[in-house]
Amino acid sequence: MNNNSSLSHRKEEPEDGILYIVGTPIGNLNDISQRALNILKNVSLVACEDTRQTKKIMNKFNFSNKLISFNKLNSSSKIPKILNDLKEGKSIAVVSDAGMPGICDPGEDISRIVKSEGIEIICIPGACAAVTALVSSSFPSSSFVFEGFLPRKGIARAKILLEISKNEKTTIIYESPKRLKKLLKELLEFCGGDREIIVARELTKKFEEHIGNNINEVIEFFNSKNVVGEITIVLKGINKNKDFKLDKFSMKKDLNDLINAGLSLSAASKYLAKKNGVKKSEIYNLL
Ligand code: SAM
Repeated sequence: MNNNSSLSHRKEEPEDGILYIVGTPIGNLNDISQRALNILKNVSLVACEDTRQTKKIMNKFNFSNKLISFNKLNSSSKIPKILNDLKEGKSIAVVSDAGMPGICDPGEDISRIVKSEGIEIICIPGACAAVTALVSSSFPSSSFVFEGFLPRKGIARAKILLEISKNEKTTIIYESPKRLKKLLKELLEFCGGDREIIVARELTKKFEEHIGNNINEVIEFFNSKNVVGEITIVLKGINKNKDFKLDKFSMKKDLNDLINAGLSLSAASKYLAKKNGVKKSEIYNLL
């Protein structure tokens, strides 16, 4: 037996009765792995978010296989058939349009259901926009928060924006180009214009861009532009000791709460300044 674990790996060919969750490129088709191609070529069938996207990969690498459509609109009707096929010993691959299935894409539900039936799942790792943007941002990346797409509106959205404004870890957000400017405005309101940010656009594609350095600069960059392409946002976490001014939003709220409770602006500022170890004027000037 080979004791070197880096040299011992699973069989290259798909095995019977296994569900393969296969990562695919997020823009550059050459980012697909040899192993992913091998699995997509040799499984009994491939369940695709959009069969046309998967065909592009198959055409580029000159192979074909049986494809079925599997997306959030039809997954509940397709899952029983996929389960049945797996139980009969077929090997099945799940792919999304781009990146890792299950990361803001179909794949999460089927993995959970298949696993609960005692069927084996193997992930064939591939590109993921969140990790690609995080690593290229150069922000701290050993521990981070992935928010995916934020809730569209209401308290749920405000609550997450407030959490992000106080977060000491790097935060990653997916956003559609249509809504990027609105989100940047909200980030300005909650986090302040100095918060470090990178907007990663069109990762791995011809017009890839990394736009920074802080929220003010990014808003200015997009001011007179139509935003197009795929967007991932990476926000650097705050340094609670150094970045007092970056936590303005919650401080302003505390100040208003104290004033509403009957304290004068001066007294409330003095109290919060002492509590947070900063100058009174820094609090006073927030209102
Ligand atoms: N499963 C995918 C993954 O692993 O990254 C994410 C799918 S999610 C439906 C699509 C979102 O991912 C886009 O709206 C965008 O926020 C982000 N994204 C995907 N491809 C990207 C790219 N090439 N550049 C920047 N962001 C991208």
